[in-house]
Amino acid sequence: MSDRQALIRARIEEGYPPAAAANMSDVEMNENAARRFDCGIDAWGFEEDGAEVHEDYYVSNELWDRACPDDRVVRWMEEDGTELAQGRFVLCVGCLERRLGRTPAA
Ligand SMILES: [Zn+2]
Repeated sequence: MSDRQALIRARIEEGYPPAAAANMSDVEMNENAARRFDCGIDAWGFEEDGAEVHEDYYVSNELWDRACPDDRVVRWMEEDGTELAQGRFVLCVGCLERRLGRTPAA
């Protein structure tokens, strides 16, 4: 079993839908051009002051779809009604803002 297949299987066992598990695996492994680096910075894992860091932020599904219509997002609903989504892109917030036509403050 490949590393990718093992990651997918682990996510499915955690309860994620198979297509979402595949997206998560691709993002984690940066496979099949899953991550996008519009600006050249890997927001999911870059080194700063000797430590690996990543950037987290959350936006609504509607905003993400406006910024990333080219992402392949999988959406599903949990038993408690929570709506979840997993795409394949990892963008820094600056790139997200640029894709929305907004320029972040310097
Ligand atoms: Zn960026």
